[in-house]
Amino acid sequence: MAKENLECSFCGRKKPETNLLIAGLDAHICDRCIEQAHGIVAEESKQTKTNDLSSELILKKPLEIKEFLDAFVIGQERTKKVMSVAVYNHYKRLLQPTSKDDVEIQKSNIIMVGQTGTGKTLMAKTIAKMLNVPLAIVDATVLTEAGYVGEDVESILTRLLQAADYNLEKAERGIVFIDEIDKIARKSDNPSITRDVSGEGVQQGLLKLLEGTFVNVPPKGGRKHPDQKFIEVNTENILFIAGGAFDGIERIITRRLNMQAVGYSASKADDHLDESNLLQYIIPRDLKEFGLIPEIIGRLPVLTHMNPLDEETLRAILTEPKNAIIKQYEKLFAMDGITFQITEQALDYIVQKAIEYKLGARGLRSLCEAIFTDAMFEMPSTEDTEFKVTKPYAENKLSYETIKKLKAVS
Ligand code: ADP
Repeated sequence: MAKENLECSFCGRKKPETNLLIAGLDAHICDRCIEQAHGIVAEESKQTKTNDLSSELILKKPLEIKEFLDAFVIGQERTKKVMSVAVYNHYKRLLQPTSKDDVEIQKSNIIMVGQTGTGKTLMAKTIAKMLNVPLAIVDATVLTEAGYVGEDVESILTRLLQAADYNLEKAERGIVFIDEIDKIARKSDNPSITRDVSGEGVQQGLLKLLEGTFVNVPPKGGRKHPDQKFIEVNTENILFIAGGAFDGIERIITRRLNMQAVGYSASKADDHLDESNLLQYIIPRDLKEFGLIPEIIGRLPVLTHMNPLDEETLRAILTEPKNAIIKQYEKLFAMDGITFQITEQALDYIVQKAIEYKLGARGLRSLCEAIFTDAMFEMPSTEDTEFKVTKPYAENKLSYETIKKLKAVS
């Protein structure tokens, strides 16, 4: 065949009508058909990737998510419910095929407000475990604006990449837990009076990540190796969960509630405020007044609170969760052929001490450690096969000095 008579076997265009005509064994293909075919392949592989993702990601229904959380987190019913829905929606959004209509589901990043030791980190960890996705836990206090001493916000994504064993796709659908978000609050609500540059600057930096964008991430972190290759991470499908104690925010809540009460004085008498747990009335406006910039609040649309841990909850934390502290000791002793037992009175005593010295849930572990250490040291070298902890035994091991020490480190 004369060269000019050659044609694309797909669209039939003659060679002169094409920019390029590539010959195969028995056929030809023009540049336009190659481009089209490429588009089809790309679309197809995107679809398969989404399918792969859905088979790997263990997405449960909100009710099942809540049940999973129940096995590890005691109490915090409202937050568990809110989180279950937010997480479900987030991953549903992520798994949806490319949208044909204009309805774009927005991210449901979460912000949890609650005293330290009430289970915020535990909640994020449990959700990551359930979904089988990588989790990075970062402390907002170490973050600084680029150019200052500390870590750039991009380091958050370095952590996530590390948690995902540098599997970019996995990292891009992981979870980032930003602890102590309250510590980067602007000190004053009015930016024109005192500009707290560091806090607000970090918030601006975070905003970029929360919004969903491509970020160049140094895979090994740090700024000391300017020549290291960057990895481009898309944060669009990363679920961000922020947590903070927001010390003093109760005052802001009370003030707002009082003002509302004045405004609607008729209903004032009917309103019954639970003064012992004001966090339950929190609304986004309170966070703004505390010093988070409105844009950040907007990017963390799911706001929830953690209840303070009461005696009953602390008691349950000791024995009920799947990996409860007491269950762990039982296992440790069993490995030495020792049956571990602890009386109800001894458990109550541990809880009382945790409350008395304001050690919180974290303190429960330290208290147990202080009580059981001697036995854990001595018993493996003896013939004893039983270890029974009674209240007098616990009292004996927990001297005033020991508790004082625990208090200092908690
Ligand atoms: P936070 O992030 O709010 O400071 P953590 O999640 O780190 O608190 O909790 C500290 C420890 O206390 C956890 O390791 C966990 O064992 C225990 N804990 C706290 N709250 C709960 C809870 N609601 N249920 C079970 N364990 C809890």
